[in-house]
Amino acid sequence: MLEGQPDTVSDAYDQRPGPDLTPVSATGGTMSAIDETNAYLAKAFKLLDLSSRFEIALRTPSREVRTEVIIDLDDGTFGNFIGYRVQHDNSRGPFKGGLRYHQEVELDEVRSLASLMTWKTAVIDVPFGGAKGGIACDPRTLSVRELRRLTMGFVDAIHDIIGPYIDIPAPDMGTSGREMAWIMDQYGQRQRFAPAVVTGKPVTLFGSAGRDAATGRGTVFCIREHLKTEGKKLSDCRYAIQGFGNVGSWTARLLHEAGGKVVAVSDVYGAIHDPAGLDIPAVYETARSTGSCSNYSAARTISGDELFAVDCDVFVPAALGGVINSRTAPQIKASVIAEGANHPTTPEADEALRQRGVVLLPDILCNAGGVTVSYFEWVQNIQEYPWDESVVNERLEEKMVKAYAAVREMANKERVDLRTAAFALAISRVARATEQRGWAWDENKD
Ligand code: NAD
Repeated sequence: MLEGQPDTVSDAYDQRPGPDLTPVSATGGTMSAIDETNAYLAKAFKLLDLSSRFEIALRTPSREVRTEVIIDLDDGTFGNFIGYRVQHDNSRGPFKGGLRYHQEVELDEVRSLASLMTWKTAVIDVPFGGAKGGIACDPRTLSVRELRRLTMGFVDAIHDIIGPYIDIPAPDMGTSGREMAWIMDQYGQRQRFAPAVVTGKPVTLFGSAGRDAATGRGTVFCIREHLKTEGKKLSDCRYAIQGFGNVGSWTARLLHEAGGKVVAVSDVYGAIHDPAGLDIPAVYETARSTGSCSNYSAARTISGDELFAVDCDVFVPAALGGVINSRTAPQIKASVIAEGANHPTTPEADEALRQRGVVLLPDILCNAGGVTVSYFEWVQNIQEYPWDESVVNERLEEKMVKAYAAVREMANKERVDLRTAAFALAISRVARATEQRGWAWDENKD
């Protein structure tokens, strides 16, 4: 049992020591993460009548910062850590993207995630570009004081290149509202008081109501909109969800509330399965109080690998990158995959699944609810006027419904899958902004 009651399942998850959380390689061993993202990009570029200069420029991030952060450790020794901030593109607005604390953080994956943010903010149509950051560290081996010193040291190194109108970090794996509050505070020491420098802050410290649930809520809206095109409702389907942290647990709870049957969920410690449907509020309570959904005893325990083969209609990856790959894809029985996680599917698996008729709701659309409410938080900070949660949720729904419709329209028009359509829509929006700024790279198109 945990000491003290965590606020969310992801807090519980952060607090308990346990197995290594090493992400499955997003490459499946054949391509680097950024090459995989650029492969998706290349496919979408083929649909568009754009100069090759756009593709060349947009494959490469605008700026990459690698910085050493040295801090005093509690035992009197010192620790040196490597942090990154990659700013991919800002033609549609300030750079925007999360900050990850994980031992596997490395430049190549940060580049890939920064690029995905450019496309995600364009698909959901919020006035931001794309960025991502991270510090290579295992947050669970550091004390809260060490983590605070590390965060402050990182802000000291990058405060000149972030800001409410420059680059706005947010939480990602291994970070939460706590780290965002420290970033806001340290940026205030270095520059000026400006809560809009970072999003995902605690609601009691300039955060937005509804941000915690936003990614899961957006994922559920996206699934709902897609099911409508198949003449189905959320309550008609069975769901399996990998990951029971912020994204996975909210997705599970909201699907359950909508009458959907969540038959299996997992976290890093294990998975549980009940073909009749899990009692998700009870599973959530177990996860909250014990640190893992797998401790829920009223369902059958299965392995993390078996989760992929569970009989269901919709599979939701909501944990790591690269988990749907050539090994796991053939096991998947679902006819729809809703990508709550970033970059969960390798291009090989994407191709194989589509050939089998499986529909993939791509990450840059499906999990865009998080950055949407981050945008709302930024707006509220600038307006200095907080919105009610009902307003946040209503506007999130509007954004998700509109984005799904735009992606679907592009897919129908071009006769392509939803991922290629989402990338093409995003590229066309970024290219238009770039041209309108006067950066018309193709002189023949002037
Ligand atoms: P989190 O840290 O809150 O939760 C991660 C969950 O994944 C935990 O339940 C953990 O136990 C589980 N997990 C880790 N390794 C696993 C494994 N091998 N097998 C099964 N489960 C495993 O993280 P999160 O914020 O929910 O993020 C999950 C994914 O969603 C990431 O890819 C993240 O980049 C993406 N995402 C998050 C947000 C957001 O707003 N939090 C927004 C967009 C995308």
